[in-house]
Amino acid sequence: MDLSPKMMELGKKSSVIREIFEYSKKRKAEIGAENVFDFSIGNPSVAAPEKINATMQKLLAEMDPVLLHGYTAAVGDPAVRQKIADNLNAEFDIGARPELIYMTCGAAASLTISLAAVTNPGDEVIVFSPFFPEYRVFVEHAGAKLVIVPCKKEDFQLDFEALEKSINPHTKAVIINSPNNPTGVIIPAGDLERLAKILSKKQEEYGHALYLIADEPYRKLVWTEEAVPYATKFYDNTLVCYSFSKAVSLPGERIGYILVSPTMKNAVDVYAAVCGAGRALGFVCAPSLLQFTVAECLEETSDFTIYRKNRDLLLKELTRIGYEVVSPDGAFYLFLKALEPDANAFYEQGKKHELLLVPSDSFGCPGYVRIAYCVTTEQIERAIPAFEKLYEDYQK
Ligand code: PLP
Repeated sequence: MDLSPKMMELGKKSSVIREIFEYSKKRKAEIGAENVFDFSIGNPSVAAPEKINATMQKLLAEMDPVLLHGYTAAVGDPAVRQKIADNLNAEFDIGARPELIYMTCGAAASLTISLAAVTNPGDEVIVFSPFFPEYRVFVEHAGAKLVIVPCKKEDFQLDFEALEKSINPHTKAVIINSPNNPTGVIIPAGDLERLAKILSKKQEEYGHALYLIADEPYRKLVWTEEAVPYATKFYDNTLVCYSFSKAVSLPGERIGYILVSPTMKNAVDVYAAVCGAGRALGFVCAPSLLQFTVAECLEETSDFTIYRKNRDLLLKELTRIGYEVVSPDGAFYLFLKALEPDANAFYEQGKKHELLLVPSDSFGCPGYVRIAYCVTTEQIERAIPAFEKLYEDYQK
């Protein structure tokens, strides 16, 4: 056996979301793009803020090209990390320090690095279902075991009783994702406090650290008045995995960072492990043009008006038709209860009306579909009759 069977399997079996996305392209070529209602992929549908492009152009025109396109420090440019720390401190007063920030190629890299840094083979990592399917790939690649704790079905918030039953001396980390993909649910401050209490108690009991990994690509996509509470304010042993992919619509540019909480007792060691994991995984010197660009645009977000409009429209129409949906407070996803227990069968039925919804099995929570509403409002308007027909199919 000269190739890694695990990697062969991963490479051959693309994610369900990618498969649907490919089907969508094929179907659009057959019947016209306007007749296919593709709600499969979380690719931002609004452009990056104008300032992003303007900053890139300015850097290209004015900065020494050797510096601009050269390697930065492996952990990221120091001035860039200082600006990120300053911005976070101004907004959340968390005592962020540049020497505890590590620039990455987006949240995916932030997560793989963080997991490699804080776990050893055989450790357990808790995720709350439904969860971003790649968590399984990332956790298992780190040699750890994925432990799934279902959220409460009535509101998809954390289930603390279930969590307490799942934590054991092998537990090393817990991943949270707020606002959540696929439900759009935000973890309120009170629940973060409760989570922090449980983790603190358990790490004392076991005599080793339990790390909280806060996966935050959707932090800025919030449809309520309050900002998402900052996890490091509640729990010291926190690593924040941030990404600019969704907040400023740069998913293809691959840029984000890891913040090691400055309140962590062994922050310097954990940061060293983050640097080591970045090195071992080959995630050093994140793209320099992007580092310099985002550092000038930290106050910016894309224009989210359309996401909010889409969310309101979908929520209103789907509820009117009779569907059961979780009301999303953030991100650009809506989690809809399938009209039969088998979400894959429901997905196939939706396909008959050209509706492409992602069955929830890979999110670790069967019986639902995810609707990514980062699409045009016209697509949603055109899709409503298809949702009506799909509902009618199940009333017969
Ligand atoms: N985490 C979650 C919950 C996501 O939804 C995504 C992307 O959709 C990622 C991580 C990866 O994001 P990035 O593009 O920053 O790697």
